[in-house]
Amino acid sequence: MQRITILGATGSIGVNTLDVIARHPERFEVFALAANRDIDRLFEQCQRFKPRYAVLADAQAAATLRARMGELAGCPTQVLAGAQALIEVAGASEVDCVVAGIVGSAGLLPTLAAARGGKRILLANKEALVMAGALFLAEVKRNGATLVPVDSEHNAVYQCLPPQFGQRPLAELGVRRILLTASGGPFRCRPLEELHSVTPAQACAHPNWVMGRKISVDSATLMNKGLELIEACLLFDVEADRVEAVIHPQSIVHALVEYMDGSLLAQLGNPDMRTPLAHALATPERIVSGTRPLDLLSALRLEFEAPDHRRFPCLNLAYKAMQAGGSAPAILNAANEVAVGAFLQERLRFTDIPVVIEHTLEAVTAGVAADLDQLLAVDRDARRVAERAVADRAGRR
Ligand code: NDP
Repeated sequence: MQRITILGATGSIGVNTLDVIARHPERFEVFALAANRDIDRLFEQCQRFKPRYAVLADAQAAATLRARMGELAGCPTQVLAGAQALIEVAGASEVDCVVAGIVGSAGLLPTLAAARGGKRILLANKEALVMAGALFLAEVKRNGATLVPVDSEHNAVYQCLPPQFGQRPLAELGVRRILLTASGGPFRCRPLEELHSVTPAQACAHPNWVMGRKISVDSATLMNKGLELIEACLLFDVEADRVEAVIHPQSIVHALVEYMDGSLLAQLGNPDMRTPLAHALATPERIVSGTRPLDLLSALRLEFEAPDHRRFPCLNLAYKAMQAGGSAPAILNAANEVAVGAFLQERLRFTDIPVVIEHTLEAVTAGVAADLDQLLAVDRDARRVAERAVADRAGRR
């Protein structure tokens, strides 16, 4: 029986995780469910899964949830509030496994707490890894934690690697390249001159996946793939020139690993996050996920093409940050979070997202982030610069 904390329980990753967990009550027990302020969904989840703790980062929302839970007879769940409580339920000694499903940099500190607690971390929150990179991995190693990728592409790579992964470098295992696929998002074929006027609703209408709003916009700009390239270098300990992005509009092949002998191993499946989540929850065993099996005879087409860098300038910005190293990925991530947030609030045009990120990367000096305080200071600086750039672009509209 694995005891699980789910960070970001009310989001797309959290809901899909609970869907898989509900199919296997003999294997998994929910210890804590944590979110920001979605009282209604967390209340329903508590009624169903009866966790020991429910946490909301927003104190007022937590007070409302506590009052509602108090009306339930015999409910074992204690409601906690605030960022510190998130850290506590991620690192608690009773927990075996933590699903890192908070969106954005808000997930960094609780995910780090899971690393410090030596937990098995099912990592969806790519921003935490991109931001903290080497610092985060050092905590994982020092405390004997385990990282299992949940991002569908990285989980696919993980499935295509030999069992000796982790004991020897990939080059010694004969791996030549890692290819991450990208659908190209909702604007892959839209005339370039129309992109400046696309709306948040259009950007969030992903052709193949149903996801949270931030990652949906990241998929439309391809910054999601950029963050994933950085994530792959860190997770699999490979150089930037060994990881590439390939457009694959059908989202059936999630990633490929090319070996020296000419073999290309791929993981295929219908685009449904329950597959990588079930894999990550149970590996090395396999369990039922609820995903519809892939029907190879249903006129399935698999197409691949190179990304168009004029359409997707964010991809090159991510490459640049990855190659610069140090705190550059944290600056990229902070600028992207600010720009995407402003776009979702209709304060910034879609085509200005890369403009704000590029400006921030140029304006904030990247260096070595030796500790968490330095890293958080760089993150704050980058957000300040990006906010100013957003205001500047808004003034010109
Ligand atoms: P959603 O927007 O659907 O959900 C985000 C979750 O994070 C919600 O539970 C939200 O709580 C919680 N949250 C937000 N801010 C805070 C905060 N300050 N403190 C505590 N909790 C907070 O996002 P997704 O599920 O789509 O994505 C989550 C992460 O997983 C992202 O990093 C994304 O890149 C990654 N990922 C997602 C995939 C997907 O299919 N969705 C695929 C691969 C990776 P509340 O609801 O209360 O606001």
